[in-house]
Amino acid sequence: MAGYDVAIVGAGPAGSTAAYRLAKGGASVLLLDKASFPRDKPCGGGVTGRAARMLPFSIEPVVEDVADRLACGLRYGRHVTRRSRAPLAYMTQRRRLDHFLLQKAAEAGAEVREGETADARELDARIVIGADGCNGSSAKQLGLAEEVVHGVALEANYPYEARFAGAMVLEIAVIRGGYGWIFPKGDHVNVGVGGNAEEGPRLRAELRRMCEAYGVDPDAARDTRGYRLPMRRARTLLARGRTAVIGDAAGLVDPFSGDGMYEAFLSAQLVVDAALDVLAGRADNLDAYQAGVERRIAPLTRAGWGAKSAFERFPRATYALARLPVTFRALEKLLQGDLPEPAAAHGIERAAIRAIYAVSRAAAAGTTGSRSAASS
Ligand SMILES: Cc1cc2nc3c(=O)[nH]c(=O)nc-3n(C[C@H](O)[C@H](O)[C@H](O)COP(=O)(O)OP(=O)(O)OC[C@H]3O[C@@H](n4cnc5c(N)ncnc54)[C@H](O)[C@@H]3O)c2cc1C
Repeated sequence: MAGYDVAIVGAGPAGSTAAYRLAKGGASVLLLDKASFPRDKPCGGGVTGRAARMLPFSIEPVVEDVADRLACGLRYGRHVTRRSRAPLAYMTQRRRLDHFLLQKAAEAGAEVREGETADARELDARIVIGADGCNGSSAKQLGLAEEVVHGVALEANYPYEARFAGAMVLEIAVIRGGYGWIFPKGDHVNVGVGGNAEEGPRLRAELRRMCEAYGVDPDAARDTRGYRLPMRRARTLLARGRTAVIGDAAGLVDPFSGDGMYEAFLSAQLVVDAALDVLAGRADNLDAYQAGVERRIAPLTRAGWGAKSAFERFPRATYALARLPVTFRALEKLLQGDLPEPAAAHGIERAAIRAIYAVSRAAAAGTTGSRSAASS
């Protein structure tokens, strides 16, 4: 007889919210993390409106700013600012957010063990879930998520400036396959740049340039750190038998935006639904989780690969479409969770999205054999 119904390796946003939901569903849950909390994780900490809506509780206690404006530019050119009718993203610090989520899991009844490195093959549980992020080992140990490619990002914190409050600043295509950002927090601003893995050697210089372009003192940087962004290719296996991987361990970061918390929360919910069916005897395995990812997350990943290749190959044309008020309305709905995927847009918003798809198809046709083409 297994010791726990479910063991989860990794207590980031994916692992802790899966543990919370499972414990609330009546399962006995072991949640392990090699770190002791509060611990930090390199991240912009922007929880999109749709990510916040996914959660069964409010994250208000750890929200430091709310962004309802998007200030966007292409390679430090002229800016366009769009204001949203509802929050686009809640600004958090991962040190605080992840600790909050871990405490929620413990309060719900999960047994939490910090400072323990786990091997996913050796856990005494009926179901094992790998949620140990992109540098974890559980995917490899379980033979899952083998088709994942990585982007890279570098970020640092700078002294607070009120002029950045309430806005997300994005500087598109300053890095190939990515962008630069400025996100406001309670007592500092977070500035970062990220994109394709080959851009790694350029990140430090580009972070400095991003600061200079926005009048932030580059020498005031604190906590500068780099990290990887795992992006899943189509049909990558994420579940086998009674084992599965979720969040970054499954490579679910959006290939264009680099966001991964929505996907972490959603994959947690999907695996919990499948796990509760197994525990109740309604299913033998976690195949329903894989199907759920293909239905709910894969369309977004495909759109992300498409946008990424369109911006890489035709940045000006794609940006011209992306900055249109009508495209912003579709983006606003996406970020707030009112649109499940770009292809579900209607009317004139659909026309704008289809135009970007057309550019991305042209980009894919021109880069046959490249990573983007192979993945979309
Ligand atoms: C620079 C940067 C900026 C980003 N900005 C944003 C953003 O603004 N918004 C957004 O939505 N996403 C952003 N992302 C993506 C986001 O950070 C990830 O998608 C998210 O952290 C995924 O959560 P997770 O729970 O899957 O993994 P993680 O948050 O990586 O958590 C994994 C946990 O597993 C633990 N662990 C690892 N190995 C073991 C082991 N063997 N045993 C036990 N525990 C283990 C780790 O200690 C860690 O606590 C950003 C990423 C980067 C790199």
